[in-house]
This record gives sequence, structure tokens and C-alpha cells, in this order.
Amino acid sequence: MEKSLEGWQKLYDVIIIGSGPAGLTAAIYTSRANLKTLVISGAMWGGQLMLTVEVENFPGFKDGILGPDLMQNMWGQAEHFGAEMIFEDATAVDLSSKPFKVMVGTKAYEGKSVIIATGASPKRLGLESEQRLVGRGVSFCATCDAAFFKGKKVIVVGGGDTAIEEALALSKLAGEVKVVHRRDKLRASKILQERASREPKIGFIWNTTVREILGEDKVEGIKLAKVDSDDEFELICDGVFIAIGHKPNTEIFQGQIELDEAGYVVAKNETKTSVEGVFVAGDAQDHRYRQAITAAGAGCKAALDAEKYLGEF
Ligand code: NAP
Repeated sequence: MEKSLEGWQKLYDVIIIGSGPAGLTAAIYTSRANLKTLVISGAMWGGQLMLTVEVENFPGFKDGILGPDLMQNMWGQAEHFGAEMIFEDATAVDLSSKPFKVMVGTKAYEGKSVIIATGASPKRLGLESEQRLVGRGVSFCATCDAAFFKGKKVIVVGGGDTAIEEALALSKLAGEVKVVHRRDKLRASKILQERASREPKIGFIWNTTVREILGEDKVEGIKLAKVDSDDEFELICDGVFIAIGHKPNTEIFQGQIELDEAGYVVAKNETKTSVEGVFVAGDAQDHRYRQAITAAGAGCKAALDAEKYLGEF
């Protein structure tokens, strides 16, 4: 690892990797506790809420709040207490000795403690055609891309809250939205299911999986297969939105801290990782709740645990 002087001059009490609700809540708590705090935000700062339109279930906002506004507020609060932020990706870590080192390209930053809050990213189907057509009609974010599909036919793949939210968002602009789900029951919450059932533009294709996304330079259709009979059929469409869950963003920690089989950080006593002084919060560890409010709560706990650890350091 190349070390630049700029990086090595700075020793932080806490380095927080990630800037979703977990990372920024941790930053509010550590900076308010007078701990020298650096947030390495990721190139796309703010996490998954930056891709959400309306957040209706974060306490304190009875009329809802836009995801990006909520994140901007959280960052403003952390900055107010003196937290610093680098708007880049952490590219490597060395947690084998103290102080810990976090690399951002060729720059290294040192921390007496680290809070991992790198979150999770959308899962992919793993099809060659999906990879080839990303940005050419294949999308993982309706909020970002719905505007390209005004009056058009789109497919949403998945049966969870994300898939139904995507379908609802798309129905405001697209001409027709079909949700393709591999079972005959949605996993999504009742309230979202009811909203989708009231939306005439949204239809469902049950017990069906995706075989291939069709088109050379842009999406022109989709090849589907019935789960029970394996019968294949094709539909014409202009866009395919994939909403089949998430995977944790923990690649840079492999071999450094304990991860489970799916790559989630293994935590003991809620926030403690297998390395003393390294804590975790949010979707990088939590595959059960994955809510902004639970991530924020976990960020608070990680910050308090880091503060206690530094008191004993
Ligand atoms: P999820 O709940 O894990 O749902 C993923 C969906 O994709 C499931 O229906 C699953 O099918 C399907 N799926 C998974 N792998 C697949 C594959 N390879 N091919 C086809 N289908 C596949 O993920 P999510 O919808 O992203 O939600 C994640 C968490 O965030 C949840 O806890 C959710 O409640 C929360 N969330 C909440 C809100 C909200 O409250 N407004 C909004 C978005 C997300 P099966 O059902 O058969 O497993």
C-alpha cells in the first residue's frame, strides 16, 4: 500500500466507512462526543436512501421526507459537530495492527477505531444479458431511471417491498408495469400490496423466472419461464427493473474480520466485530430488518461502543 504524506498526517479517533443512516448517525454521536471523526462516504454518498423518493416511516416526519433530504440533514448535523467527510470509496483496510489503516486510493488514513457502515447493494440475476444491458434498459433503481420509460412497457423482477415500490414509482410514468415473481405470493408488506392492487397499470406474472433479457444494444423484450412446467415465453418490453434483494458491501474486509457465508459482518454484542476496536452498524451486518431507522439505531450503538472502547484505549 502506497502511503501519501497527506493521509498519514491524520490520526482520527474514529473512521466511519459508509454514509447511510448507520454511518451518519454514528458520525453525529462520535463528533458530538468530541471524538475526531472521519467519514469515508463512498463515491455515491448517502447510501440507499439517496435513491428513495419519499420516506414515510422515519419517525419525526409526519408528512414524510425525501430520502436525499433526510441524508442531507443527517450529514449537516454531523458536520455541525465537526465530522469530516471524504466523498470517495475506501479501497482497502489494514485492521491487523493499531492504529487501523483505511486506504482511499493511494492515501491512507489512520483511526484508533473503525466503524463499518458500508451497507448493501442490489443483487443481480447473474445473466450475461443483464450485465450487457445495464444502463440500456436494465436498471436497479426506478427512482433514478423511471423518467426514461414514459409511456413504455416495463418489467419489475422480485416480490419484496423494493419490487413493489419500484412498480408503484414506475406506474406514475410508464404505460404498463408487469411484476414478475418466482412464487405465487408477495413478500412485500400489506400496505404496499394494497397500493399496487389499486393501480390499474400494474399487473403480476406469478411463478415465473427470468431466462434472458432480449435485445442487442437496448432492451427489447424478456424471455421468461414458468417455474412448475419450465415452459418458456417472451414478452416485448422497453425496460427491466431488477429488485431481488441486496448483498453486503464487505469485499474490502474479507480476510480481515469475520464475515458469514453471505458476506455479512459477524457481530457480537450487537456492534463488535472479530477485531477489537472495529465496530459494525447497518445493512453490512443486518440482513433481517434493513430499515433506515434500525440502521440509524445501530449507528448510535456502534458510536457509543467506540466511545467506550476509546476511553479504555
Ligand atoms: P427482499 O425482501 O429480500 O425481497 C427480495 C425478493 O426478490 C423476494 O420476493 C425474492 O423472492 C425475490 N428474489 C430473490 N432472489 C431472486 C432471484 N434470483 N430471482 C428471482 N427473484 C428473486 O428484498 P427487498 O425487497 O429489497 O427488501 C429488503 C428489505 O428492505 C426488507 O426488509 C424490506 O422490508 C425493506 N424495505 C422496506 C421498504 C419500505 O418499508 N418502504 C422499502 C424497500 C425495502 P422470494 O419471495 O421467493 O424469496
